[in-house]
Amino acid sequence: MSDASTTTLSYVTPTPTSPWGTYLAQIEAVEPYLGSLSRWIGTLTRPKRALIVDVPIEMDDGSIAHYEGYRVQHSLSRGPGKGGVRFHPDVTLEEVMALAGWMTVKNAAVNLPFGGAKGGVRVDPKVLSRKELERLTRRYTSEIGLLIGPQRDIPAPDVNTDAQIMAWMMDTYSANVGATTTGVVTGKPLLLGGSLGRVKATGRGVYFVGRELAKRLNVDIKGARVAIQGFGNVGSVTAEMFAEAGAKIVAVQDQYGSVHHPAGLDVAQLTAVARQPGGVTGYRGGESLSPEEFWATDCEFLIPAALEGQLTASRARVVKARVVIEAANGPTTTEADLVLRDRGIVVLPDVIANAGGVTVSYFEWVQDFSSFFWSEGEINQRLDQIMTGAFATIWDTHLQHRVTLRTAAFIIGCTRVLQARAERGLYP
Ligand code: NAD
Repeated sequence: MSDASTTTLSYVTPTPTSPWGTYLAQIEAVEPYLGSLSRWIGTLTRPKRALIVDVPIEMDDGSIAHYEGYRVQHSLSRGPGKGGVRFHPDVTLEEVMALAGWMTVKNAAVNLPFGGAKGGVRVDPKVLSRKELERLTRRYTSEIGLLIGPQRDIPAPDVNTDAQIMAWMMDTYSANVGATTTGVVTGKPLLLGGSLGRVKATGRGVYFVGRELAKRLNVDIKGARVAIQGFGNVGSVTAEMFAEAGAKIVAVQDQYGSVHHPAGLDVAQLTAVARQPGGVTGYRGGESLSPEEFWATDCEFLIPAALEGQLTASRARVVKARVVIEAANGPTTTEADLVLRDRGIVVLPDVIANAGGVTVSYFEWVQDFSSFFWSEGEINQRLDQIMTGAFATIWDTHLQHRVTLRTAAFIIGCTRVLQARAERGLYP
């Protein structure tokens, strides 16, 4: 990295395994490939803006609770900010910064006209009533209202946020500006300017790029064994897509436990039980696994689709998969990445693997501007085209520079961001 002044920030203390520390190590790995653009590297190692807000709400019992909220705009060099909103008790400013940084690289790697942003509230939404959740969402939206907008920064769903929360965000923003503004968030319900195909877009995209990688590695998806950590939106749809293509989902883990069957699990049944209390542990017809045994599952594809930092070095040492596909953001620590590389396990990085969600969010944003909506077939076909094209460019870059797919994706994404920065120039 060029010098400490480009990386050191007074307001976070990253470690080698923390999200921002992991992101910085990835930027460091790409710097030698950036040529003269590396003089702009500070653009990537320092978020453009970080807003911390207090979110006070009245609880159903009449008490007042306060929650910490964030919105980070990591880069606006290539367009408005774009990135999800997470409600989780472990959300921190540092985590939101890293997630925003990965959005910058992802949007550029897939060549969408967006910068990178992310938001979050440090809350366990599962203990809130529906009315409390609505008040929290509306107050958070109002507090970050000075940053967001269809031309400024467009939030979307992430962990524990969904179409209903996007509807409340859109309504709150619209009430505050005095005009229905559907383009302020994506991932909305269909009748409020949402897009067909958005709910399944991330998992579908994981499958599209997994399929392309399998072709390059001569791995047959039909009959291949798949293990998935996280069985929410992304994990369950990824399972559905791989199963439709003839793969066997042999192990699944969520926050409640793990379930395994070498002959394959029934995805429809798993998806139904995963929504109930106790999650995938309610599945009948499989054996349970300890949390650590899950990582050593015999399989061709291991797909982390939960949270960041899950695939640690010690877990990477027992992985038996041929390929790791990062459906989650930042699931692999820097040390684990090196272990996997040395063991010859190919990692398809998050910035391409889970870009299907933001790609269909881009389609939703475009459809909202024109108020002209596309068919689901058109959306899935355009998603396939963008994901397949982006993967091919990353694959060729990886061969050309003899680097991992992660560094290749970062070479493409970071070069585009810094070229935009250099051409725009500094003001004043
Ligand atoms: P979700 O809330 O729908 O599901 C999260 C899943 O992870 C749940 O099954 C939960 O039980 C599981 N989980 C949580 N903690 C766990 C733990 N410690 N061990 C095992 N499992 C655990 O969230 P999602 O939208 O599916 O997002 C999952 C990941 O994908 C996140 O990293 C998110 O940033 C990323 N992502 C999501 C989208 C999207 O469109 N939703 C797009 C791109 C990336």
